Amino acid sequence: MADPTQVACEGVLPLTARTERWMEDLLGDSQQCASLLSEHGSPVNILDFSPLARNAAELIDAAREQGVNLGVYVARKANKALGLVRAATAAGLGLDVASLAELRQCLDLGVAGDNIIVTAAVKSRALINLAIEAGAVISLDNSDELYDVALAASGRETSARVALRLASSDPAIPPTRFGLGAEGWNRALAEVDLDGLRVEGIHFHLNGYSADERVVVLREALRWTDRLRAGGHPLRFVDMGGGIPMSYLEQPAQWSTFWQGLAEDASENLTWRGDRLGLTDPDASRPSSSLYPYWQRPVRGQWLLDVLRAPGVDQGSIADDLAARDLELRCEPGRSVLDGCGMTLAHVAFRKTTSDSIPLVGLHMNRTQVRSTSVDFLLDPRWVRPADAGVPSAPFDGFLVGAYCVEDELILRRRLRFGDGVARGDIAAFVNTGGYLMHILESASHQLPLAVNVVRGDGGWVRDEIDMTL
Ligand SMILES: *Cc1c(COP(=O)(O)O)cnc(C)c1O
Repeated sequence: MADPTQVACEGVLPLTARTERWMEDLLGDSQQCASLLSEHGSPVNILDFSPLARNAAELIDAAREQGVNLGVYVARKANKALGLVRAATAAGLGLDVASLAELRQCLDLGVAGDNIIVTAAVKSRALINLAIEAGAVISLDNSDELYDVALAASGRETSARVALRLASSDPAIPPTRFGLGAEGWNRALAEVDLDGLRVEGIHFHLNGYSADERVVVLREALRWTDRLRAGGHPLRFVDMGGGIPMSYLEQPAQWSTFWQGLAEDASENLTWRGDRLGLTDPDASRPSSSLYPYWQRPVRGQWLLDVLRAPGVDQGSIADDLAARDLELRCEPGRSVLDGCGMTLAHVAFRKTTSDSIPLVGLHMNRTQVRSTSVDFLLDPRWVRPADAGVPSAPFDGFLVGAYCVEDELILRRRLRFGDGVARGDIAAFVNTGGYLMHILESASHQLPLAVNVVRGDGGWVRDEIDMTL
């Protein structure tokens, strides 16, 4: 590489991360990386939310092309920074909140209740009251919650705005613990005093990223909308939740080569002590569902077009059905709109080998700080060597480990090739961690402090206020 501060690091079978311009600019400035770490500690989460508006616009434009009005409500649980709330609001987007704290912070930042949906899986009385006062839509999960919200709304001037979370009863859709079937809702609605409630929408959120499954449930929601409207409910929208796909890798061949290689990896060279990464069938060179598809197509806009062009319940497409009913389509993307918004930097702590001679690089961080529910974060880190780093080792292949005292805990489970060795003072950069990877499972176990979050502001990199509110 021409730039002496960026040194080689890739998987033994490489999985090269897609990057944004701002990431390359920062990675090219090793002094800036080093000073962010010395100022804020290791690891440090770096956020630049400028790609958010572009990612959301891809969805909105695809919907508009099909004559559909799309409301985008960014899933806050995917990143806790208050900078995300500001960026979403500046881009004219709404927010999907999953707790009282998430809701309160949005309201404190001036987000209008009208631009918020509350999808918390469990809702306290305080959350319900604040949502009703703010005029936010509450997505109802079950009949006990319907009762709680009806009670909280009774005697108020403004009614509670609610959406009904639909658990599909279509056999093509896997069972879910969220929401109720349409029949269950119809029964529940008949049993409560609905005076203080306005049923404004149908909501669903599916596991996985299948466009076909969204089409099936959208059809179900469209038919149910007609029945609810006939029953006098003022339905305005169908909210299809999140799970809109994105791709972390640019080269599909790397993805297939990696899985083929792992399926054939008899010498257990590619992963930590031969970890299969969820690959169960020895003949299958495909990842399991416990693993995020780091490469996939179609994504975002094209994926949404496929959904909207699919046959609907009348003569035309899903898009035609929505338009004919004057229904707004809403979605709650997290990961796919945070694509390109985050990066995590960590300092090298040590180099060593295990008692059976496997080379290790220790980082000042722990695994929960780049982790999601996927079995591993499958992107090669980038490697930065500041001018004042120590003397690099000879080149070697090894693994990244972190601060937790657990034998099997690694930062990444793939073997990495350090073609320029590793020096003390080197910096590992985990790319595109803004969606879930930096926050969803982060833990302060061992009383190690949580990572600081810095966000690009007008005057450069500034600490996000979320670290001051907790
Ligand atoms: C997690 C979640 C989302 C966001 O999902 P992504 O996969 O990040 O798009 C949206 N809505 C609900 C109800 C969720 O639970």
